[in-house]
Formats: sequence, structure tokens, C-alpha cells
Amino acid sequence: MTLALYNTLSRRVEPFAPLAPPRVTLYTCGPTVWNYAHIGNFRTFLFEDLLRRYLAYSGYDVFHIMNLTDVDDRTIKAAATAGKRLEEHTAPFIQAFFEDRDYLRMTPAHVYPRATQSVPAMIRLVERLLERGVAYKGDDGSIYFAIAKFPSYGRLSRLDTRELKIGARVASDEYAKDDPRDFALWKKAEPADEQVGAAWDAPFGRGRPGWHLECSAMSLEQIEKCCRAETLDLHAGGVDLIFPHHEDEIAQSEAATGKPFARFWLHGEFLNVRGTKMSKRFGNFLTARDLRDQGVDAAAVRLLFWQTHYRKALDFTDEALAGAGVGVKRLGEFYERVKREAGNGKREGRLAELAAAFETDFRAALDDDLNAPRACAALFELVHEANAALDAGAPGAAAALGVFDRAMQVLDVLPTAKRVDAGLARWIEDRIAARDKARKSKDFKEADRIRAELAGRGVEIEDTPSGTQWRVV
Ligand SMILES: [Zn+2]
Repeated sequence: MTLALYNTLSRRVEPFAPLAPPRVTLYTCGPTVWNYAHIGNFRTFLFEDLLRRYLAYSGYDVFHIMNLTDVDDRTIKAAATAGKRLEEHTAPFIQAFFEDRDYLRMTPAHVYPRATQSVPAMIRLVERLLERGVAYKGDDGSIYFAIAKFPSYGRLSRLDTRELKIGARVASDEYAKDDPRDFALWKKAEPADEQVGAAWDAPFGRGRPGWHLECSAMSLEQIEKCCRAETLDLHAGGVDLIFPHHEDEIAQSEAATGKPFARFWLHGEFLNVRGTKMSKRFGNFLTARDLRDQGVDAAAVRLLFWQTHYRKALDFTDEALAGAGVGVKRLGEFYERVKREAGNGKREGRLAELAAAFETDFRAALDDDLNAPRACAALFELVHEANAALDAGAPGAAAALGVFDRAMQVLDVLPTAKRVDAGLARWIEDRIAARDKARKSKDFKEADRIRAELAGRGVEIEDTPSGTQWRVV
């Protein structure tokens, strides 16, 4: 069994293989930093975190790009309302996004290109599209993409082109465009843009990038830099981005390069609060920092999200979150117990068998279009059966611990208090080795000093016949 993913392009679950293994290029549409991202946004980002971690677990070398949209209609409007320059307004929200990312234990992307710092690449892309005759300057001075020149437009969203036409006509009275479906690549600078510092000079006129253009330009620039590639292995985002955002990204990129833009398109479903899509308008808007301020363990949020498949809508309720909190606590207790028992050194036995069976189920579940609910069910079954085996004094805890640790590299759902940062764990192991050395040479003063040093960082140690055990309290 190998990894298979649901590809929105084909509407099928397809076996996944990157263009140049083991390298996998992954682009995920990042936050628009006009305000705090809400937990609906973070549901998408966490599904992408699961994808990223499972690719790494499967042996791939992932290069992950996440952009920051720090110039668009919303950021400009918000900056103007606040009476600030664009970068002054977005800087604290960028900072907040990184804090939220760390709180929710998202693996940082390798690069976070910012739209305002990638304008030269955007200008080059527009020039390329103008040269190729698929873009034109409208009567209003903005540059538009000519959809009629790109016959495969609509392939991702599968929207009827007539439908698109009618929808666009009703929604807009923009006569500057040749075709009402055409979208802006570059918007002519308006006084409001100049006021907040959101305008750049370009050979085709002073202005600012359209949001869709930003993602095409930044992803192409980054994969060219990292991998000399023009095609992404994976592109992911929320389902609300399929049309028009991702459709437009494909049109711009493929019209410029003549190559497929992304081989796999993955889309995460919405998060609902009390049955309604979360939005400021409905008054059910919740941010990651709201949860953090309420003392919610990020592990519970992660587990709650994993318990619904990423392609199904998730209903966020206090009860469901509390239930996930109980599950996380159980995992933490199990982890402590297995760690204690692992000291006996035996790698074979009933526990090892249970762990091996779990690992097979865990992989099969995640290989099947990231079926995290099934992977979690297998995890709790392991906890149940392994606890019973431990009650009966079965050996093999050391092997079970290794398997459990590897699964946590993907799910990362241990309670924050029990979860040991990899850097801290290395430091602890290093200190314990130094203390062992001191004890062997009968330097008990030094050994005691190291014990105190560890205690100072909340690490308790216990000397057992099979070596020194430690835990962070
Ligand atoms: Zn995007």
C-alpha cells in the first residue's frame, strides 16, 4: 500500500508519487494578514500540517512553501481604516500568525514569501502573460487575464462557462474588461492604495498585484529557486479557494510556463460552529488565541480535528473539544506508563506485537487519503489493548514506545505538559549521560549538581536497575 490522495483535478483518489523523489514540493495558500486567522482557517492549515508530517513519515523530503498575503483588498481597507501604512498594519498580524502556528504545533514551512516582498516576480509574470497575448490592459488601466485565450479554464472547478459568465455579469458592472469573466492580474493604483503604500511601479503601469497573481508568482519563484521546477507536486487550501482563486492560479501559471502548475490539488472542508460556517457576520468567530487564552491544550484541538476526515465538514462544539481533551489525557497517561515499562529493555513480546499491528493499521489509514479518524481509532485501540497487556505483565514495552513515538511525530496529540520538545529531550539525555559518568567515577558531588540542574528545568529522574528514567513534571 502506498499513499493515495484525493485529487480535486480528477475528482478521484489517486496514488501519489512526486516528480523527483524523494523531494516533494508543497504549496499551501497562507493567511491574509489583515486580522487574526480564525480556527476555520487553522483547520485548513492543520490538515496541511498532517499532510506535511505524513509525507515526512513516509520518507519524503518535503519542501513546503506558505505565502503570506500582506497586500490585497482587505489588507488595504483595514490599514486605511486604522490610519496606518500597510506594513505597519500587517506586521502584528504576521507575528500573531506565527504565535498561533507554534501554539497549534504546526511544523513551520521552509519559506514564507510575503506578497509585498515578491512584487518583482509578480511583475515578471504579468510581462510574460502580456508577451504571450493572454493578458491585456483594460480601459481602466488595469491588466486582465483573457480567459478566452486559455481554453482549459474551469477544469479544476468544473463550473459551466456559461454559468461563470452570467454570475460575473450580475456581480459586476465592470465594462473595462473584454469579457466579464476576465480577472485582474494587476490593479491600477488608486489614491487609497497610495495612501497606505500599496502601489508599485511597473512597465505596464503603477499599481498593485491581484490576489490570485500573488500565489502563482510566489510559488513559481520558490520552486524555481529550490528545485529548478515549474510544476508543484502538491497544492493545498480550503475548499472555498477552488473557485476562483485556484482556477485563476492555474490559468496564470500554465499560460506562462506551458507546463502543468500542480499535479495534485487537495482541499480541506469547512469548520462549522453550531452548524453554521464560522464568520464574523454570524457572531461565531473564534481565533486560535481565544482557545489559548481559555487554556485549551493544543493537543485537544489537533485530536478533535483529526477525528473528522479533512474532506468532511467539522462541527466545532465545546462538548466535542472537551471529549478530545479527555482522549488526549488518556494518551498522556498511556505514554507515561509505556515509558516507565520500557525500562525493562525487552523489545519482544505481546506489546511489541500489538504495536506492530497498530503501525500497519495506522499507515493503511493515512495512506488512504489521510484517513486520520481511522488512524486515531487504531491508536485508541492500541491504548486499550496495550493497557490490558501491561496489567497482565506482558513484555515488549520498549518496542511499543518507539512505535508510539513515531505515530506522535505525525499526529502530535500528547498533552502539552507531557510532550517533550526534541531539543529539550536531547539536552536531558546529554545531562543524564554526564551524570552517569560522574557516578561511575564516584564524583557524587557532580552527580548531585546535575540532578539539581535537571530539576531546575522540571526534569525528575529515577535510577532503576535498567538505567536512569526521566520525566518532565
Ligand atoms: Zn493561493
